[in-house]
Amino acid sequence: MVDKMVFMFEEVDAKKPMKDLKLLYGGKGAGLVQMTDMGLPVPEGFIIPCKYCIQYAETGEWPEGMKEQIDECVSQLQEKTGRTFGDVEKPLLVSVRSGAPESMPGMMDTVLNLGMTKAIAEAMAENNPRFAWDAWRRFIMMFGDIVMGVKREHFDKIMDDYKAEQGKKEDIELTAEDMKAIADLNMAEYESLTGGTFPEDPMEQLYAAINAVFKSWDSERAVAYRKMNKIPNYGTAVTVMRMVFGNMNDNSGTGVLFTRDPNDGDKKIYGDFLFNAQGEDVVAGVRTPIKLEDLGDTNPDLQQEIYDLAKNLEQNYKDMQDCEFTVEDGKLYFLQTRTGKRAAAAAVQIAIDLLAEGLIDEQTAVLRVEPDKIEELLHKRISPKEKKKPITKGYNASPGVVSGGAIFNCNRAIEAKKNGEKVILVRKETKPEDFPGMLASIGVLTSRGGKTCHAAVVARGIGLPAVVGAGDLEIDEENATANYPDGSFSEGDVISIDGASGNVFLGTVDTVEPEISGAFADYMALCDKYRTMGVRTNADTPEMAANAMKNGAEGIGLCRTERMFNAKDRLPKMVAMIIADSLEERIAALDELKPLQKNDFIGLFKAMDGRPCTIRLLDPPLHEFLPDYKTMLVELTEKRLKNEEDERRAELEKLVKKYEELRESNAMLGHRGVRLGNTNPEIYKMQVQALIEALVETEQDGVEVKLEIMLPLLAHVNEFKRLVDLLKPAAEESLNGYEPKHPIKWGTMIEVPRACLTSAAIGSEAEFFSFGTNDLTQATFAFSRDDVEGKFLLKYVNDLTLKTDKGIVPILTDNPFEHLDLDGVGRLVKMSVEEGRAGHAEAHDGARLEVGICGEVGGDPLSIDFLQAADLDYVSCSPFRVPVARVAAAHAAIKAAQNK
Ligand code: ADP
Ligand code: MG
Ligand code: MG
Repeated sequence: MVDKMVFMFEEVDAKKPMKDLKLLYGGKGAGLVQMTDMGLPVPEGFIIPCKYCIQYAETGEWPEGMKEQIDECVSQLQEKTGRTFGDVEKPLLVSVRSGAPESMPGMMDTVLNLGMTKAIAEAMAENNPRFAWDAWRRFIMMFGDIVMGVKREHFDKIMDDYKAEQGKKEDIELTAEDMKAIADLNMAEYESLTGGTFPEDPMEQLYAAINAVFKSWDSERAVAYRKMNKIPNYGTAVTVMRMVFGNMNDNSGTGVLFTRDPNDGDKKIYGDFLFNAQGEDVVAGVRTPIKLEDLGDTNPDLQQEIYDLAKNLEQNYKDMQDCEFTVEDGKLYFLQTRTGKRAAAAAVQIAIDLLAEGLIDEQTAVLRVEPDKIEELLHKRISPKEKKKPITKGYNASPGVVSGGAIFNCNRAIEAKKNGEKVILVRKETKPEDFPGMLASIGVLTSRGGKTCHAAVVARGIGLPAVVGAGDLEIDEENATANYPDGSFSEGDVISIDGASGNVFLGTVDTVEPEISGAFADYMALCDKYRTMGVRTNADTPEMAANAMKNGAEGIGLCRTERMFNAKDRLPKMVAMIIADSLEERIAALDELKPLQKNDFIGLFKAMDGRPCTIRLLDPPLHEFLPDYKTMLVELTEKRLKNEEDERRAELEKLVKKYEELRESNAMLGHRGVRLGNTNPEIYKMQVQALIEALVETEQDGVEVKLEIMLPLLAHVNEFKRLVDLLKPAAEESLNGYEPKHPIKWGTMIEVPRACLTSAAIGSEAEFFSFGTNDLTQATFAFSRDDVEGKFLLKYVNDLTLKTDKGIVPILTDNPFEHLDLDGVGRLVKMSVEEGRAGHAEAHDGARLEVGICGEVGGDPLSIDFLQAADLDYVSCSPFRVPVARVAAAHAAIKAAQNK
């Protein structure tokens, strides 16, 4: 016996957990069977599960028996609806819809009005000619486009040309005769471009459409979206359901709604409605719809019914829902429900509100906001002082303020991005194929559509600032210009959009930094309550540190002191130190640097106000501080040729000689970190003394200091022990009897595989560990970051694929500099945490070694999950990623507790 492969909606066990339902039937299918089960009005239909899409992709055919089961479901559908495929009097018309386990809005295809033939259209036209010919014209277009690969543009052009010829602007002005004429033109185009005839048999249409939907899973845009959102190769389910017609008459219509505002989370139903239109009209943003809240003016009962059912859905799913519905001659049907995509501000507000309403618990509220989304809330806003008047206004579709050159074409946007330009995509509307162009832009502006149109939904999903439906804007895509009431702008002109207000400006605008307040502050407090891992920041200046504090950092995980030497007033002194002829000369130069460095530390300590500060002693090789070698050489050669014997020449001779002495063929593996510290201890000695003097002064000013001194690039424990033995007396000397409020800790950065492998020994000496994942990744992969990223690393991640039992995969799933490479670097980290702690406990009476990590992965949610499991005490990341890390750490802690 063959498996059951095709299911009528009511044959599915809708009480299964949502997660399982989605994996089997896709999100759309799961929503439809659950709505059917809840007794909501849903048109009848059946589903083919996702896995058959994958099978079809692999084998190119359906499993044995599937066709028979489809036929069987079609006959059940005919029975339930009292309609028959191909019947002229009472035709069964269906939609064939895609739907994956994770929402991929607009990425795959759906065919509507399937089952139509010219004969059926003619019969339908007897009652309602405009509707009938409109449906027929659409079906030819969709079937041609999605099933037969005749690009939609061909049909759009026919429509546009026809309208232009007739002097008509809106679709609604087109009469029945117009629709019929357009349908005939569509058919002629179809036949000429496919070289075949249009299938008259609905079953034949259906089989072909099912395969087309299967194939749309692997369309270019769907693949790009999956890659970007890391969605696995699930396959799409196919849903076949009776058509209901929102374009039947003026008592019909179609709409989409969110049960709360997807932009700010406001607790009110929020949506768009178009009278006398089919679903895709709203989603595509072809016409600008009315607001659902205004529907009550004309149809209060209908509005109430929609609201009631929507609230019902929200209570059932305990989350904000995004629904599609259609009204056919006054009767309401729900066609889709899913968890609504939302801007970060809305995600936070809704989580906090649902918690207050008692629908979800605290842990669930924390998990309701994706860590990466939080970054959106840290976006700039327009300064309240900005007086510039907007040139036009649209819907505030996705928050954030950006300024960039206007660009009117997606391919040019992609080109511009390649050239490093920041552009704002300006289009009448966006369609799914514009996705790559949107990805290449820093913002999107459209003149059509509502807040739920394609551009808005996609932009919100990827955190791209967007203003849509700016109706005053007349966009001429071909000539790359846009007219607004008082003027115009063209391609390349700088414009600014504010996705939070919907305002559009010419030129740039003043912005202010965001702040954590209101629901956002409540949400962050909730995260802090649940997370067990600390979050610190990588900061080198008091300003950076203060910013990070505002974002909730609990300390400095890494201060790179070399950055202090690069400042304009320091560099000459640093260079003098490097080229010094004798130790005395060198120490004299260091003595000049010391007060400057000390002042930096005082600023940092005061900004940190008693929180731990890990200060790393000089790490890079010395020649990095010298001027550019080639420039020096050119200047010197000129002087030599001209026989100029001035002071500058003497200096250059010295600099060039020093450079040649110091330069290394592989500086990454060269004379730096503790290696330099051991050969030239006077540098570290100066730094330690500056640190201690700063500590004493800061504490005498009433601010406590928790100082952790970090030695970089350790490979052997002896490198550490020798230096600490040397530096501790220098520290004592500077303390000069003063007793710090907190003991000064001496620790190291673990960033070399040998240090990981011998962490037990290092742990017995060090008082803390901090992993430096940048160097550790370089050394573990033997990747020189600056060289490999441009040359092949990105190809490893994006282009170079191979076949494995998990399907087609790239050589590396992720850039290991962004996400911890769990199998290699991650394993080293985990091992050295364990062994380092054991070594430390043994040497120090069971005391626990404090362990942190810093680098890009410190703010990366994917890595943080792993680091939580590896039991790190803290992650350290750049100031603006701190809130992301706090949320990610809370997620990780809650998930870890749930898995226990
Ligand atoms: P997407 O996943 O791109 O939203 P859908 O499968 O939801 O695609 O379909 C596209 C549009 O067609 C939606 O607006 C939907 O409401 C409408 N639609 C789908 N099936 C039907 C149907 N049976 N009757 C009427 N409209 C439908
Ligand atoms: Mg849909
Ligand atoms: Mg390093």
